[in-house]
Amino acid sequence: MLNIYGLTRKQLEDYFESIGEKKFKAQQVFEWLYQKKESDFDKFSNIKKDVIEKLKTDFTNNKIKIIRKQSSTDTYKYLFELEDKNYIEAVVMVHNYGNSICVSSQVGCNMGCAFCESGRLKKVRNLESHEMVLQILKIEEDINVRISHVVLMGIGEPFDNYDNVISFINIINDNNGIALGSRHITVSTCGVVPKIKEFTNYDKQVNLAISLHAPNNEIRDKLMNINKAYKIEELMDSIKDYIKVTNRRVTFEYIMLQGINDTKDCAIELSNLLKGMNCYVNLIPYNETSHIEFKKSSQKTILEFYDILKKNNINVTIRREFGSKVSAACGQLRANFEEGL
Ligand code: SAH
Repeated sequence: MLNIYGLTRKQLEDYFESIGEKKFKAQQVFEWLYQKKESDFDKFSNIKKDVIEKLKTDFTNNKIKIIRKQSSTDTYKYLFELEDKNYIEAVVMVHNYGNSICVSSQVGCNMGCAFCESGRLKKVRNLESHEMVLQILKIEEDINVRISHVVLMGIGEPFDNYDNVISFINIINDNNGIALGSRHITVSTCGVVPKIKEFTNYDKQVNLAISLHAPNNEIRDKLMNINKAYKIEELMDSIKDYIKVTNRRVTFEYIMLQGINDTKDCAIELSNLLKGMNCYVNLIPYNETSHIEFKKSSQKTILEFYDILKKNNINVTIRREFGSKVSAACGQLRANFEEGL
């Protein structure tokens, strides 16, 4: 049975038409689920009893379960249990401009980035779109806040689960649904080039972030397996094309690893690589984890790196560190329940 939270409005309209009902019922159902936050089909008071019975036989409304919540000043980390007893995590960060959620897209991850904790558990399966939608709804309900920004930067590679991720975005962006503005939604990829190409033709103004982390193939090959499949040149070509077609600015994420990718030469090489592109670079202080030997760059090194990029007219920011106290920072989320405790 399909979960009702995994259907786009279009899919729900098609469903109603297929059972001989008016399309606009889809809008009504969306309003119940996402605006009135009502999941019990029996409470859909503007929908006829026989249609409700039909909904009950065709869809489930099961939700994912919050198993544990940890919080520090500006961060909440949630551990969820899925229906098949797999586990995922999501994080909410409180900013002055609103609340952003970092959503997971897979159980485990196969990308095998050398520095990342989340990928130590290999991919078990893709998340269904309802499992992504429900990360938002459950957390909103739990802390009674409205989430204003969504980043697909939790566990998993969104472009290794493309179709479900696109459905998820269509659902949360829908005006009759959670109505999150597309400019408030960001997809992050380690560089799955064919999907960047597909995403170039996606009709919503969603932000794209690329986990670059190195200015050349030699270093990137050592850090990220994906670079063996798609070299930096090919990656950059696909991004330039994306910018040309969409006229949108791309974010490059760059974690600062001591002695690996943080030298002055790297900063110069990165500046040359990105020169003239409509982009900005987010320098991310590396979050050290006990299983992985990489060290974070010193504050001084990060600032010097930043200065070189600035001097070369590259837009650059240094990411504020969130959530390290509760292991909720980038790359520290995991799908391994026992270890997560
Ligand atoms: N797979 C996607 C989505 C994950 S986003 C992607 O790679 O973009 C998570 C981000 O955190 C990625 O940029 C990832 O490279 C980065 N990251 C992983 N481990 C980290 C760590 N220990 N410290 C800081 N950032 C990390």
